Amino acid sequence: MDSCISEYDFRANLSALKDRMADACDRSGRDPDSVILLPVTKTHPAEAAWLAHRAGLSAVGENRVQEAEGKIPAGPESLRWELIGHLQSNKTRQAAALFHRIQSVDSAKLLRRLNDAATELGKRLPVLLQFNTGGDPGKFGAEAAEADALLETALACPALQLDGLMTIAPLEGGREAARRAFAALRELRDRLQASGGVPLPVLSMGMSGDLEEAIAEGSTLIRVGSALYGQRA
Ligand SMILES: *Cc1c(COP(=O)(O)O)cnc(C)c1O
Repeated sequence: MDSCISEYDFRANLSALKDRMADACDRSGRDPDSVILLPVTKTHPAEAAWLAHRAGLSAVGENRVQEAEGKIPAGPESLRWELIGHLQSNKTRQAAALFHRIQSVDSAKLLRRLNDAATELGKRLPVLLQFNTGGDPGKFGAEAAEADALLETALACPALQLDGLMTIAPLEGGREAARRAFAALRELRDRLQASGGVPLPVLSMGMSGDLEEAIAEGSTLIRVGSALYGQRA
């Protein structure tokens, strides 16, 4: 586990990040309140979640079920936790119990298993569908061609609440390729919204290195780790 930065450094990083977000919104004529910041606390101790909480942020992101399991009980009680990393189907019960939203749902099998788990828990679980719109062979996420079938399955799961879509930019190709992947996710969202007749308000895209491109393409939620907490070991 990485060590945790000081409250002072966190506040300085947060202030610089908010400036970047405000500049990016300004350039695209967007309201700064239309982009939510999700701090990513993976590899950092529970104290990282407390830093976010004390700064007034209401949710954090984790990318592994097991890591979050140890951290959530040590974090602030009112904080919301979102799973942003790949979910294995044998961890769906744990994930449904622990997290307030799961952003990384990329198959019909995961949708059905999460629906079963949420039903047993008596909760309605918010989810996002993750797409690999950047076509990165090393990244998880469904293909755009599977989108209609996934939407249909998601809408047939009464214990799930589909909030929108998520993507991770490809590793290769820099900011240009990231921007194309983000534009493709927005277009996919617009198409699914129209064909499914349902609102899909959340577009989770953009991280420390590409948040400007994501905001320009309509991101409503950026997931930021290193720009807030420092480089991971
Ligand atoms: C780690 C991670 C992030 C944050 O990445 P940074 O580059 O540190 O901002 C965002 N999204 C996902 C899915 C991640 O795994």
